[in-house]
Amino acid sequence: MKDSYVVSFDLVEDDVPSKLPVTALKQPTFTIDLDGLFSEHLSNSGSFDIKSRIWASTFGKLTQALPIPVLLVDSDHEIVAANQAWARISPYYRKLHGAGFLDLFHRSNTRKDAQESLRQVFITRRPREMESVVEIGGARIWARMTFRSIRIQRKRFVLVVFENLSAERSKLALERRLRDQIEKAKREWERTFDSIPELIMILDRERKILRANRPLAEKLGVSVQEMVGKPCYHYMHGSDAPPDLCPFHHVAANGKPYSLEATYEKLDGDYEVTVSPIMDRQGDLYGVVHVSRDVTARRRAERERQQLLSYLTKAKEELAYRVAHDALTGLSSRPAILGELQKELARSARENSPVGVILIDVDHFKQINDEYGHLAGDAVLRAIAARIKISMRPYDTVGRYGGEEFIVVVPGCDSTKVRTMAERLRRRFNDGPVRTSEGDFGVTLSLGACVVPGGCTTDVNSVIRNVDEALYRAKEAGRNRVEFAAGRSAH
Ligand code: GH3
Ligand code: MG
Ligand code: MG
Repeated sequence: MKDSYVVSFDLVEDDVPSKLPVTALKQPTFTIDLDGLFSEHLSNSGSFDIKSRIWASTFGKLTQALPIPVLLVDSDHEIVAANQAWARISPYYRKLHGAGFLDLFHRSNTRKDAQESLRQVFITRRPREMESVVEIGGARIWARMTFRSIRIQRKRFVLVVFENLSAERSKLALERRLRDQIEKAKREWERTFDSIPELIMILDRERKILRANRPLAEKLGVSVQEMVGKPCYHYMHGSDAPPDLCPFHHVAANGKPYSLEATYEKLDGDYEVTVSPIMDRQGDLYGVVHVSRDVTARRRAERERQQLLSYLTKAKEELAYRVAHDALTGLSSRPAILGELQKELARSARENSPVGVILIDVDHFKQINDEYGHLAGDAVLRAIAARIKISMRPYDTVGRYGGEEFIVVVPGCDSTKVRTMAERLRRRFNDGPVRTSEGDFGVTLSLGACVVPGGCTTDVNSVIRNVDEALYRAKEAGRNRVEFAAGRSAH
């Protein structure tokens, strides 16, 4: 609007004033300073004064060719001319001719302003300006109008020059709307961000905090604002350098989210941390989102569950041990040794290999109890059990059958071997007393043995009956001896 427009139009003979310089004829181009149309300094009087008919017609052509819309209004407030530039605003602009200027104003106050402006310009001949919405040929525009007095062949008019502000206005309105929307979206985003209970930081590529959510700031006892721009480890770990476990470089190197369990110097509890990359449009790392979820309660519950589980496992193992072992001697318990016997009998039948069984009873054990007391009896039982145990092969099983009676299961032995083993065992007790904390005790054993040949089906009870019977015979025969089950042993 501040530029000068060069407006061209053809001069016909009629238009040429007699005194027009020759140069003007050769250069049929007129220049109008648009700035002048809005300025008070166009002329001394501030008004156009066109006296000659020819210049009036030239002025008419000039305004017609102007790229900005102008109206010529007479003293009856009637529009006597509307230039071609209105065509861009409304296709019905020709209807403006002869219309009342004030009818362009729909609001009574602006209509009054316009009326007053016209009146003042007619009286004072000084330019005036106003801004208003005007409705022209069905189009509504926001316009800045400059009213300028103009006299054409003794008749006074007002030239109203329009500057269409609608685009500018709508641009401003759009900008305001966009700003409002951005503000609203920002507020919503911040509210959401701050409502998430997880502790969140958005970090740049240098691990500096771009944004932290309120729950994190509150937990750290600082403000969100003061966290911004500082390295995350400063707040989370209270250190000048990132900790060894910091997952940032994994994410930066792989561009993939990374999760781990962590604890922070500056926060109590256990956290499940997920660091996810934020990529820019070019696919380069912009920063990361660092989310810490407090899993203290869950971890505590898990730890308690683990403790309970290991306690239960231990209790179960202990129970199983107790069931399988005799509390006094540590040998296999009665059910365990009978189970072992059953297993070996089944294997013997299946694999056609013999299995020997020896039932041991301590001779005159009652006397030890009677003479030295039950505790001494217990100690002697333990010492006897230990001596039996070390006398056997590793793969033989020794169990306490009950009281001062023991069973030994010796797999894969024929009767010769079983006899040898039983005899060796018996002699071992003859070799010297058993040593206990209660003193040394001379002990002898009576043993009943049998061998179940391979490939034959025998149940546990009949085997026990056989060795029991053999043991009875050993006792009968004077004790401290080995007897074999009659007729059942395989030689
Ligand atoms: P024998 O077998 O030679 O005929 O005589 P014994 O004295 O060994 O026979 P008996 O069966 O009469 O006695 C066994 C004794 O073993 C009776 C019981 O008091 C004792 N006894 C059984 N279990 C235990 C135990 O766990 N501790 C102690 N101290 N004594 C036990
Ligand atoms: Mg007995
Ligand atoms: Mg006995």
